[in-house]
Amino acid sequence: MYDVMVIGAGPAGCITAKKMTDAGYNVLLVEKMKIPREKSCSGILIKKSINIIENEFGKIPDSILCKPNISRGIIITNEKNQSFKFESDSLNVWRSLLDKWLAFKAKNAGAELRQLTSAISCEEKHDHVSVKLHDGEIYEEKARIIVACDGAGSIIKKKLFKNPNNYIFTYQTFCKGTINLDHNFFHAFLHRSLSQYDAWFNVKDDFLIFGVGIKEPSTMKMYHSKFLSFLNSQFNAQIESYVKEEIGMMPNVMPGCPVNLGMGRILFTGEAANFLNPIGEGISSALASGYAAAEAIKSLYKNNNFNTKFLMNTYKDNILAEKQYMTRQWAILSTISSKFSNMK
Ligand SMILES: Cc1cc2nc3c(=O)[nH]c(=O)nc-3n(C[C@H](O)[C@H](O)[C@H](O)COP(=O)(O)OP(=O)(O)OC[C@H]3O[C@@H](n4cnc5c(N)ncnc54)[C@H](O)[C@@H]3O)c2cc1C
Repeated sequence: MYDVMVIGAGPAGCITAKKMTDAGYNVLLVEKMKIPREKSCSGILIKKSINIIENEFGKIPDSILCKPNISRGIIITNEKNQSFKFESDSLNVWRSLLDKWLAFKAKNAGAELRQLTSAISCEEKHDHVSVKLHDGEIYEEKARIIVACDGAGSIIKKKLFKNPNNYIFTYQTFCKGTINLDHNFFHAFLHRSLSQYDAWFNVKDDFLIFGVGIKEPSTMKMYHSKFLSFLNSQFNAQIESYVKEEIGMMPNVMPGCPVNLGMGRILFTGEAANFLNPIGEGISSALASGYAAAEAIKSLYKNNNFNTKFLMNTYKDNILAEKQYMTRQWAILSTISSKFSNMK
């Protein structure tokens, strides 16, 4: 019987596993992919993410950074072609390397890390949760508490709540070429003709990355090609070659930013709980929610009374500031673009 089982070794899962292990609990961290695994992401670590990571895991190594190492901020252009520049230094990292570093920090602290192991379902019993795992064979493990950190497509949440899916799909291409946009900024475009959410440009090492967020997967290439034509006409984008393409997903966060923190002994964190900030910044809230969940579980153990209402209420209290931060961020974005204030 584990004290805690953490499902998914992204930022939310790694911080939960690391904190619980540091506090002396017996932790199993399962990850369905082989680490380092690819995660479609722009890899911009804002100050808030850097602070949480450096407090909990130590100094971020230079080896996970890409060029330009520092992203100077974000420039958002709305549907009326008005641009808003938000300057704040962030780190530009490769997600596969960041998440590998986080996962091995948790492992080296003492968490048991099982890669290539998918959680299939959770069943809550009287004093524990029984989890079906798949690593080629199906077997069961037990833990007193489960933290589902399995990302936007969380299978655990789908099985527990049976809600209809509500995602934004992302499509981005890594290209070689040139463009007259400042490589030191992340550029987001909110024109309705260019995406069903946002369209973006950023640079990682030698790659120019062009992405679009859409609701209907069948439209992704159409919007992407419109976006490239727009960048060609406005900023003289010249693509010499396409090196790779990536499809990803994130929660379609609605005004009011509803989150789902879980049920009984099963907590959700990160994108599995619906945490995401505007223009797809989610690493900071994944870390903050993982941190809050771990603190709630520690309080539960200290209390020595497995009251799941107490667990959920403590997690809810711990995460309140993060929820308010997310709501404020969305409010700011809705003053820039009607697309976000009217989002359906
Ligand atoms: C195109 C794009 C660009 C983005 N750019 C940024 C950015 O620049 N900065 C930023 O802060 N955020 C960005 N985000 C958002 C950010 O990537 C997410 O918010 C963040 O990764 C969420 O972390 P998480 O730990 O909740 O989930 P994830 O990082 O998605 O991790 C979930 C983990 O769970 C594993 N898993 C899934 N199912 C199972 C299962 N059944 N069993 C075991 N393991 C499982 C997955 O393999 C994965 O490793 C971007 C997102 C997208 C799609």
